[in-house]
This record gives sequence, C-alpha cells and structure tokens, in this order.
Amino acid sequence: MTDKIMDLTVVSPLYNEEESLPELTQWIREVCEKHRLSYEIIFVDDGSTDKSWQVIEDLSVKYPEVKGIRFKRNYGKSAALHIGFRAASGEVVITMDADLQDNPEEIPELVRMIREEGYDMVSGWKKKRYDPLSKTLPSKFFNLTARIVTDIKLHDFNCGLKAYRNNVVKSIEVYGEMHRYIPVLAKQAGFVKIGEKVVKHQKRKYGVTKFGLSRFIKGYLDLMSVIFITRFGKRPMHLFGSLGTLMFLIGLLAAIWLGVRKLWFLHHNIPAPLITASPYFYLSLTAMILGTQLFLAGFLGELVSRSSVDRNTYLVTERLNFKESDVKQQKP
Ligand code: UDP
Ligand code: MG
Repeated sequence: MTDKIMDLTVVSPLYNEEESLPELTQWIREVCEKHRLSYEIIFVDDGSTDKSWQVIEDLSVKYPEVKGIRFKRNYGKSAALHIGFRAASGEVVITMDADLQDNPEEIPELVRMIREEGYDMVSGWKKKRYDPLSKTLPSKFFNLTARIVTDIKLHDFNCGLKAYRNNVVKSIEVYGEMHRYIPVLAKQAGFVKIGEKVVKHQKRKYGVTKFGLSRFIKGYLDLMSVIFITRFGKRPMHLFGSLGTLMFLIGLLAAIWLGVRKLWFLHHNIPAPLITASPYFYLSLTAMILGTQLFLAGFLGELVSRSSVDRNTYLVTERLNFKESDVKQQKP
C-alpha cells in the first residue's frame, strides 16, 4: 500500500510568538478536520528568545501533525520560509504568520483554488487591514511600484498568507529578505498562473511586530535587487556590458572629435586651443574610464554568477516529528 499524499502543509515562520501558538494550532486543526483535509503544520522557530520552542515541543507531543524546526539564531522570515518549504510534503503549501493576524478559515478556499482552479500560487490580499496608518500607507506605494515594475497584478505582495502548489515552493529560493517578492520569484521560475484572494485580517492579539519602519527602505532596496536579479542575474554582462559600451563610445567619440579638430587647426595653420582646455576632454576621459569600469563589473558579475555559492547554510539545531527519510531531503 502506498502512502496517500498529504493534502496540506501549513508553514508558519515565527520569532517570539509564544502566546499565539497554541491558539493558532487549535484553530488550524479545527478548520482542517472540519473540511477533512489531511495536514501537517511546520513551525519554523527563527531563533526565538522566549518560550516559543518549548510551546512547539509541547504541541508536537500532543499532536503528531505539528512539526518543528529550530534555528540556532534569528536568520529572518525568508530563511524560515525557505527551510519550511524544503520540509513541506503536502500537495498544497500554505504559509501563514504565527501571530494570529492571518485567518485559518481561509485555508479550505485557498486549497480549492490551487487544486480545482489550477492556480500555481494564490496570494492573500488584506483588503481591510488592521494595522496602523504608518504601515498601510507606505505599503500602498510599495505595492504600486512592485505592480508596475514586475507586471504582476497583485494588490498585496507581502501578505503572509499565501498558497502554493508543492512544486512551486520546491523550485524557488527565498533568501535575504525576499519573502516580500515570492510572487516575483515564482513567476521567474515559470509559474505564471498567480491568483489573488481577499482574506480576512486581524489585529495582532499578542506580542509586537518584528519589523520596524526600516522595512520600507529595505523593501525598496530589495525590490531593486529582485528586478536586477530576475532580469540580469544570470547574465550581468548584458546590463553592464551595454552600459559600458555606450559610455566608452561616448568618450571615444568626444576624443576623436577633439583630435580631429586639433589636426584640422594645425593643418590650416590656425593657432589651435589646447586639447586640455576643452570640456570635451574631461568628458571623454571620464566616460571612457566609467565605460571600462562598467565592463569590468560585467565580467566580475559573470564570474560570480558562474561559481554558484550555497547561500542558504542555516544552522538548524532541532527538528520535531520528522522522519529520518524526510530530513535527508530537507537539506537546503
Ligand atoms: N518573523 C520571523 N522572523 C523574523 C521576523 C518575523 O519568523 O525575523 C515572523 C513573525 O513571528 C510572524 C511573521 O514573521 O509570524 C510576520 O511578522 P510580523 O507579524 O512581525 O510582521 P507584520 O505583521 O507586522 O508585517
Ligand atoms: Mg503580523
């Protein structure tokens, strides 16, 4: 007899959320049992300093569906998601914040959209948000920019509640602070059927937010990296090489113009101004130097992109409720 594939994996990254975990587990259990979904919950403890891991241990003893992965230190939400994705074995994978701001009641519909409507990925949209204005307003601008530059029509890129077909999460690599751009990564990996579902959002019940205002600056910087990486990551020479050539040509033309002019003056016995007296001289010098530098940056980029370095070496200290055979496949 073969094992039936599990319907659902819930991946929940958490950093100091001890109060919320029992309630969240209970709620997910109720929803899944009511809808007859077979499931596992993977809590990835991102180096919590409170009693979160102890709470997960207790839960995992009580419920075999609860699994835990513990990081040695706080690596960030992206790292936690990455490791959770590697460990997920459900047909549908749902990510959910552990702070009870995302509503488990959304699970059945998300699962249905992936399974029956053929979406590769469905992103939640917190249409009505229970967050302060200082967070919602910048977030609107942020989503607008992301929509324009990535051409993915989502209203809420950074929603923690998202659903994926299993092979999507196995094909993408979430690192740095890229959790905000998983839809972009998915699209880049070739999964283009990306949907959106309006989801209920709650006020944070316990604890505090783990991201300060710096999230917006970082968010924009990450957006630039995402665009760069998705467009030119595998061929940096295309960007730097063309910019470099352009710069160099501008410089070269300016230099030729100067030289020709000087020769012409000399030929006609007219007293010629010094080449260094012309602004074109400095322009051409700068442009040629910049052009060469850009070209070099392109070459270096090509070298770096060819020697693939494993970025995702996160130190996992403990795992709960996983089989030996599962763990082997979870290596990043
Ligand atoms: N989180 C994490 N590692 C971090 C920061 C946050 O795993 O370094 C988790 C956090 O515990 C929560 C989720 O990511 O489950 C979303 O974080 P938070 O609620 O603080 O973000 P917000 O809702 O304010 O955007
Ligand atoms: Mg939250």
